[in-house]
Amino acid sequence: MRIPDRTGVVVGYRVWRVIPGKWQSPSESLHAQTCQRSWSLTGPTTAYCPPRFQVNPNKPLLKSGPCEDSPGFDCACGLYARYEPIKEAHLLPYVVGSVLTWGRVIHHAERSFFRAEKALPIAFVRPCGGGGAFPREAEDKLFRIAEQLGAGVVGNPEELRVYTEKEASRW
Ligand SMILES: [Zn+2]
Repeated sequence: MRIPDRTGVVVGYRVWRVIPGKWQSPSESLHAQTCQRSWSLTGPTTAYCPPRFQVNPNKPLLKSGPCEDSPGFDCACGLYARYEPIKEAHLLPYVVGSVLTWGRVIHHAERSFFRAEKALPIAFVRPCGGGGAFPREAEDKLFRIAEQLGAGVVGNPEELRVYTEKEASRW
């Protein structure tokens, strides 16, 4: 896949939710933590602005429709990532990992995250245990997801940082 501008690539870290089980194909099994939309496993995922995110509860309503270009400045849409690896352990079906992002990137440095237009998962931290109803199935699914993406699976957040920065330097 093509990343247009090497200098515009931003490394980020985030949490996903893996949908376990055979009834959901791997290609639709990597979700945001709080959203039903699945991430692409064949290339970068592109941000979009769902109508329900058009209202920021802390601000007056500024728009009557979804953003023309996501992520929008006065909106909460976009692909979220943090600047630093997430150190808190997460139990399956949640999984911590890293992304390369590019395109429109809106920084919220004071809250230590940003919102990007395009994001490609680079690596995941091997889960240290399972919560949820189907931890084994979720772990199996994570490995299939990583394989399809060509993403790495590493042991801990520090390995994730090293692996991701090395990958980022190749773009
Ligand atoms: Zn928006």
